[in-house]
Amino acid sequence: MSEDALVPFRGSQPPGMVSDLVIPGALDLDGDERLWVPQAPDVAFRPLLLTPSQGYFVNLLRVRRSGVLSRHRHAGPVHAFTLRGRWHYLEHDWEATEGSYAFEPPGETHTLVVPDGVAEMVTLFHVTGTYVYVDPDGAATGYEDVFTKIENARRHYAAVGLGAERVEEFMR
Ligand code: FE
Repeated sequence: MSEDALVPFRGSQPPGMVSDLVIPGALDLDGDERLWVPQAPDVAFRPLLLTPSQGYFVNLLRVRRSGVLSRHRHAGPVHAFTLRGRWHYLEHDWEATEGSYAFEPPGETHTLVVPDGVAEMVTLFHVTGTYVYVDPDGAATGYEDVFTKIENARRHYAAVGLGAERVEEFMR
């Protein structure tokens, strides 16, 4: 090993660079319940990274009921790591199981279902852009993006006493 191999970078980081973000226990799924933002009955998300500057977000989605969660169309790519339970899309014959990774292509419309017998599903979703809730023919009924996530988290963190500004911890 060369003698300077262990020397930390001596230069300065570029102006405008945002700070890094570390969340200890990010995959501790049974940690502080207040961090889980309710999204629908028995459905909650926990933000890991919310990037208004890049238009994407990384979060844990937790579903504690079986059945259809939503039908939606993605404008951007999605990466999904299933951490607990399992789920599938009505439009595909594959199933996302614990430990699996799935890529959802931009442009796809699909209907997420948690099968009977799954008490809890938790998946890390990295979602770029917007996803639009749609009816079976594709007509828009609503949407989610990093801004709806920020707004919902702000409201929830204020309500549970963490303070609305707590969401800023996850924003870059
Ligand atoms: Fe999706």
